[in-house]
Amino acid sequence: MTHPHDRALPRAVRQAMPMARDVLVEVAILHGVCIRPVPLRRLDIVTGKSEIIDVPCGAVLASKCPPCAKRNRQLRMAQCREGWHLDSEPTITPDESNEEQRWLIEFRADYQAQRDAAEKAGDDTAEIDAIITGLDEEINAAGMRGNILGRKTAKRSRSTRRRQDAPDLPKRKMTSTTLGRTFTSTDGKTYRPSLFVTLTLPSYGKVRDGVPIDPDTYDYRRAARDALHFPKLVDRFVQNLRRVAGYDVQYFAAVEPQKRLAPHLHMAIRGTLPRTEIKQIAAATYHQVWWPSTDDVRFDGDHLPIWQDGNGYLDPSTGELLPTWDEALDALDKDAEPLHVLRFGDQVDVQGVLAGTPDADQCIRYLSKYLTKSIGDSLGGGQAQCEHAARMVDALRYEPCSPSCPNWLRYGVQPKNAKAGMAPGRCRSKAHKSEHLGYAGRRVLVSRKWSNKTLAEHKQDRRTWVLEALGQAAEPTDPHRYVWRPVPAGDANVPPLAVRLLRTVAERQRWRAHLRELEARAVGSDLSATEETGRAA
Ligand SMILES: [Zn+2]
Ligand SMILES: [Zn+2]
Repeated sequence: MTHPHDRALPRAVRQAMPMARDVLVEVAILHGVCIRPVPLRRLDIVTGKSEIIDVPCGAVLASKCPPCAKRNRQLRMAQCREGWHLDSEPTITPDESNEEQRWLIEFRADYQAQRDAAEKAGDDTAEIDAIITGLDEEINAAGMRGNILGRKTAKRSRSTRRRQDAPDLPKRKMTSTTLGRTFTSTDGKTYRPSLFVTLTLPSYGKVRDGVPIDPDTYDYRRAARDALHFPKLVDRFVQNLRRVAGYDVQYFAAVEPQKRLAPHLHMAIRGTLPRTEIKQIAAATYHQVWWPSTDDVRFDGDHLPIWQDGNGYLDPSTGELLPTWDEALDALDKDAEPLHVLRFGDQVDVQGVLAGTPDADQCIRYLSKYLTKSIGDSLGGGQAQCEHAARMVDALRYEPCSPSCPNWLRYGVQPKNAKAGMAPGRCRSKAHKSEHLGYAGRRVLVSRKWSNKTLAEHKQDRRTWVLEALGQAAEPTDPHRYVWRPVPAGDANVPPLAVRLLRTVAERQRWRAHLRELEARAVGSDLSATEETGRAA
């Protein structure tokens, strides 16, 4: 056998050998092992023993390694399948919290403390905020509802003045069900039809192969604003859909990139409506963005507002304090135009789908197709598409992404929660980044009553995965026995990543062997046990 340290071997032969480290990662991926595990310290309060345990990145972080992303996609597909054609009303009763849920909250608590400390020290909190946003998503994914801090921002008392007009649509009397109608055929069979709807944004100019034919006339500004506010338009669509349908319509939707780099929406809807009504609702749905105007660039280049402690941002030439976010909103008079109005494009696709058909399966695969990719991930584009993406990033550079975006300074308004060190063009929110191209919202949108008894199952799947990764398969433990704490970066007690991966792969192999043993024992005696272990594996 040839040995890579054998100096007699020609250099080219040695270099053709794969790096051991790369093969390790490859093996880890084959075993479905997380390749970017997050170390957590687990304190056993019964024995007083403390140890460091790796948790899969997919359980705590928004950006997932390939095995975690794959696992996440499978769980999402299961969740989608389970709620789509539900034939009985989901009952909503909170379960008791489990260990994974508790350590997520503890992990979140630690990051809150870190964030508070950073803010107090006047440090940039963008990175911690990004982690916190991901954690909050994981807290929901682990089966906990709502935002941990409650409503993030208090609703403005005057917002009613800018009430959105209800579009002119038919309206059915509201019933309290979440289930769609059923139809009985002449031979007595009951059908429960559902819908698969695709909604796109309007045209910003002619494209060929996802790339504008004339970049100079392509409306990048509109494209950028539409992407930034897309989640609001989806909310409006759901509100209108429920009003027209006359029942509490449930949905599972995925926001995905189109080749032209605009977000679009695939939506599995429980129950059915006439195709023409869906198209009517999409056509009538719009969202108005009531933000201050950005027509007038007041500060640019070296001429930028100056921060004054205790006061806020002021104009460097006049010393005049800039209006705060709330003041700027209050100053919008009755005749003001909205900064932006969003509508869907006229390409609306509506497909009727029956439970358990190959069509339904195909839609579910479609819904999760892009879950492992971000909006700005190259969709197979070459040079032209890179340039298109770059122009999109350019259009987003000075576009305010939220009330607290530093870009407001450019237009003479203090961002909400203004603090020292803000500068237009230097917003760190992910909406401006090339991976997101304006859309910083969630990729999967699931209504609250999509599935419930099945959500418990979904949680169980996830829990099995996490426990399996922790090497503590389904062992019943006292729920209050362990306390989890994050491990600070660079902690000397955390072994190198390669060592941890090797251990996890070994753990996984032992686990598989154990399952096979259980299966072998169960054959012939109890088929359901085989099913059980088969599913867990
Ligand atoms: Zn991972
Ligand atoms: Zn921003």
